[in-house]
Amino acid sequence: MPKSTHYKGLIDRYRDRLPVDSATPIVSLTEGDTPLIKLVNLPSLIGKSVEMYVKFDGQNPTGSFKDRGMTMAVSKAAEKGAKAIVCASTGNTSAAAAAYAARAGMTAFVLIPEGKIPMGKLAQAIAHGAVVLQIRGNFDDGMRLVKEVAEQAPVEIVNSINPFRLQGQKTAAFEIVEALGRAPDYHCIPVGNAGNISGYWIGYSEACGKNTASCTLCNGDCPYLDNPLTTSRPVMVGYQAAGAAPFLRGAPVEAPETVATAIRIGNPQSWDLAQAAVDESEGWFDEVTDEEILTTHSLLASREGIFCEPASAVSVCGAMRDLKNGKIPEGSLVTCTVTGHGLKDTAIAIERAEPVKTVDAELGSVKEAILSHIS
Ligand SMILES: *Cc1c(COP(=O)(O)O)cnc(C)c1O
Repeated sequence: MPKSTHYKGLIDRYRDRLPVDSATPIVSLTEGDTPLIKLVNLPSLIGKSVEMYVKFDGQNPTGSFKDRGMTMAVSKAAEKGAKAIVCASTGNTSAAAAAYAARAGMTAFVLIPEGKIPMGKLAQAIAHGAVVLQIRGNFDDGMRLVKEVAEQAPVEIVNSINPFRLQGQKTAAFEIVEALGRAPDYHCIPVGNAGNISGYWIGYSEACGKNTASCTLCNGDCPYLDNPLTTSRPVMVGYQAAGAAPFLRGAPVEAPETVATAIRIGNPQSWDLAQAAVDESEGWFDEVTDEEILTTHSLLASREGIFCEPASAVSVCGAMRDLKNGKIPEGSLVTCTVTGHGLKDTAIAIERAEPVKTVDAELGSVKEAILSHIS
């Protein structure tokens, strides 16, 4: 009989490195194990020799990295006997919460900013049966309300302030280290609520047997420090959209605005953890404009075959700029998290493109149209 190699999700895969035990009912959609894709065309566009990879977490079951955290958060909620979960969301957290709640037989309540989430994400929340509450406010208002309501109603918060979320998300760093056989030199990542950068830093730190201020569960007594996978950690570089860049302003932003709706956040909940990740790794935060984001969004799709949502292009956008200006040295091994799938937000891709050409349904017209594109 062949040995079964069926991958069963990240909790099963990293059980010994996650806070679960035999009493934890695992709620999984076989998330994780996402591809690490080498960029073959973009580095030469900036004339730099660099080994650059995209961790395409848009290939998770609901199309974003949020599934990594959600499998942990919902499994731990189920262990506690919770019947309902709640989150504020720019779209992807609500899609993931809705799907995992459906599987666990729980009710998901999701608060989204009115008119500011792409249709793909809204469709997911609705299809999976979440109770969607559209609020007349932004993500930060939703986050505040979620914290308040959870004190007065029997609902479990599954935003990334739930420490189990970051535990699930740290596994992306393990996968990268295993795929490369070492940690990258630089890890570039979009920053919104700042949970993911914090989760990666926990993962990279555990992977090389080091402790970090970012790990809030084990209080400096990490059981995995004796079991390292590698010897170094990357420099962490967090990129924000210029209209929603509290880390660059040094204070929360009142009315964040950006085309990258997933990171349209002015008051990141994991501020201190993200700052610690950047400080400990001797990295930095920087910002990119909406125009730069959309240019990279379309370059990734048209030159690399990687279709992501605008917020996800932020990591590659910032990395290319910092390679060009030498902040990231040539010859480095660079990984970029690409957080969500392009099918989430098709409107933006179509809006920016040339109108689709319509021709008569006859050979002459089709042939002419094809030949006009071949020189
Ligand atoms: C949630 C999200 C982000 C931001 O991650 P944080 O942990 O909030 O910093 C970036 N891109 C996408 C597609 C997301 O869904």
